[in-house]
Amino acid sequence: MPYTELPRTLGALKNSDFAAKLSPDRTLKEELRSNLICKLERGDTLFPGVMGYEDTVVPQVVNAVLSRHNFILLGLRGQAKTRLARMLTRLLDDQIPYVAGCEIRDHPLRPICRQCRDKIAAMGDETPINWLKADDRYVEKLATPDVTIADMIGDIDPIKAARAGQDISNELTIHYGLVPRANRCLFVLNELPDLAGKVQVGLFNIMQEGDVQIKGYPVRLPLDVMLVFTANPEDYTARGKIITPLKDRIGSEIRTHYPLTVDHGIAITRQEAWTRRQSPVAMEIPPYIHEVVEHIAFLARDDKRIDKKSGKESCETRLFITSLEPAPKTILDAVRSHWGIENSLHWTLDVIFDEDRCKTRKDNSPLGLAIIRHAAFNILKADKTKGSLRRKRIRACIDTAFRSNLFAA
Ligand SMILES: [Zn+2]
Repeated sequence: MPYTELPRTLGALKNSDFAAKLSPDRTLKEELRSNLICKLERGDTLFPGVMGYEDTVVPQVVNAVLSRHNFILLGLRGQAKTRLARMLTRLLDDQIPYVAGCEIRDHPLRPICRQCRDKIAAMGDETPINWLKADDRYVEKLATPDVTIADMIGDIDPIKAARAGQDISNELTIHYGLVPRANRCLFVLNELPDLAGKVQVGLFNIMQEGDVQIKGYPVRLPLDVMLVFTANPEDYTARGKIITPLKDRIGSEIRTHYPLTVDHGIAITRQEAWTRRQSPVAMEIPPYIHEVVEHIAFLARDDKRIDKKSGKESCETRLFITSLEPAPKTILDAVRSHWGIENSLHWTLDVIFDEDRCKTRKDNSPLGLAIIRHAAFNILKADKTKGSLRRKRIRACIDTAFRSNLFAA
């Protein structure tokens, strides 16, 4: 139904086709579950653009949603955890009604905040209704040690109390935090172990009991939220990082992973790298470059010198999607050096690498070769052993041990 034709008052809403779907007993998790079942029956792609998880991560996410669990995605950086979480909004209803003006988007038939209950008591069927789109029902927060209960749950607002002439303990004086504002929405909390213990307790209370203490005043807020957490597996399993009662309330633990095959890796990098752009010069990356980039990533992940456990003393190496994307300056420099000023680089490339006699002229090959030549030049130049560049270049061709040393250096 077009947005402008949706019912705008409580009375109109009750008499509309939406009424059947509107039971306040249909919680957010119930909504996700029923929409997921529809999608599964239709055979829809649940997470378009997420590759290589079809048989590992996606079935676990499906199970978690079907089981109405809050869940945690455990994995390292760049494993599409947040992307997966964000795509859960695809399982929401297109739009849902809420009491207009309500900070926590109350359900029109069962409002939990005092303002809405008072409003409906006063205005009845004339109470105005607003609509919330699926995309807007997503709240994300990066947990850091300085996040407080006030940020997450709320705080007493003395100014609000003074203006309304209310007692400070009155629930009308609460300034809501992120979790209440995520009522009837997906709430994604990244890097959960970084959250202070006290805030975790608050979070647990609101998940479990629907109530929480703000500055010592008990506040009852039976919120309807779906919580999705993300964490690094090492932080998560470390003792004391997550309070046990909260851990027990997380229904499913789902481990993500890096691509299992080079083909998946290539497909993901191709999708994420910004290589198809509006430009008079077409950029074409030969398939073997894609393979080289991906193989380096695979080798690096298995390399003993790269510690997979974070937090320990380690050499952390990041390979970015942008590795595939040479900066315009790099390309320009490579091109310029080809016919530019007679600088030493050009001279070396010319004399030692016989660049000018190179017969490769077609398409992208000269650029590709130039890049490889420059790489070779830099590697040779970095070598501190005795001998001329020309000699080293020949030696690198015939002496395997020498070549390995060059790469290791
Ligand atoms: Zn309300």
